[in-house]
Amino acid sequence: MTGPCIATEIPPEIFINICQDLPPSDLLSLAQVCKKFYGYLCSTHSRPTQEIWRNSRSQFLPYVKMLPPDNMDERQYVKLLSERGCQFCKRPRIRRIYWAFRVRCCKPCLSERTMRLDQIRRDLLSKFSIPDDILRGLTYTTGFYKWGWDQSPKNRPANLYWKDDVYRVYNEYLKLDPDERKDWLLNKRKEGRQKMEDVAQREIEHENEYWVKSSENEKKREERASTIESLIKKERNDFGLLRFKMPIVEQCMVYNKAIMSSSTHTFTNRAWIGLKNKLIPEYTKLAASHRTQRQAAEKLFSHDVAVQTRQMDILKLIFDLPRPDSDQPVFDNAENAQEFPRNKPEIFFAAGFNVNLIVNL
Ligand SMILES: [Zn+2]
Repeated sequence: MTGPCIATEIPPEIFINICQDLPPSDLLSLAQVCKKFYGYLCSTHSRPTQEIWRNSRSQFLPYVKMLPPDNMDERQYVKLLSERGCQFCKRPRIRRIYWAFRVRCCKPCLSERTMRLDQIRRDLLSKFSIPDDILRGLTYTTGFYKWGWDQSPKNRPANLYWKDDVYRVYNEYLKLDPDERKDWLLNKRKEGRQKMEDVAQREIEHENEYWVKSSENEKKREERASTIESLIKKERNDFGLLRFKMPIVEQCMVYNKAIMSSSTHTFTNRAWIGLKNKLIPEYTKLAASHRTQRQAAEKLFSHDVAVQTRQMDILKLIFDLPRPDSDQPVFDNAENAQEFPRNKPEIFFAAGFNVNLIVNL
């Protein structure tokens, strides 16, 4: 049985209250829940609505200091800033915003919707118009080489103008009386200069944020990778010995995939259990094949050499034992410093007689 959803019965004041501390992504999803929420969150003229988005922006996008551009409300601004993906073809993970056109899009979609200055000059030149003048009031972005591999002058980056804007101003210009044109052009020139200054400031603000974010994310990825590594290094088996040997782990696809992951989320305990479940079968298989190779090689050694090699390996294993990254012994005085290595052989002899250990190597 389905009745009316209780959430949609919330009075506006309470709804506004709830929204006060929500991040942009939550507000954007809330607006999609039902017509009522959409109404509350997408009203262009309502003060509380604009306030909700402004709050969310200043709390969760603190790097954005500039107010929304002309003719863009807070919601549209926050949406442009915080969503990811191309607005046109929906290609994911695109975050490049072209402030000149106030769009977030991929390069192919940008090329499709813009015109190069040289093309505009060619197409719109007539005895009635000088394209460069007509374009004065428009904002533009710098293009890119048409073909990455052909950087010859004919393909050099030209300024790109939004096609619809170009045709709009062109038609606007053609409709003018010839004696109005001079003033029109002067106004457009001033307008264009102001708009481009605004665009440049927004590009800088966004670019700075981009680099700060990228380096923050890089740091988070490194932290994640080192957490994974230290968890693997600390893991023990039933004998209380280290579960994994790093040289073998480093050959495991599962490990490499986890280390190279682009995720910036903290590596949780749950993620560790998941990783371990995938790592163990691959590790066991690899370790078994190493063991077979080793046994084949040992057949070529004399008995003494084979035993000595194994003893050396055990010794290496034991010396690795008390040193998982974090609990490195701290020598606070000379006495302790001398004592520490003396403890080692005892562990070695105690463990050296463990047949299981030798067989497991
Ligand atoms: Zn696209």
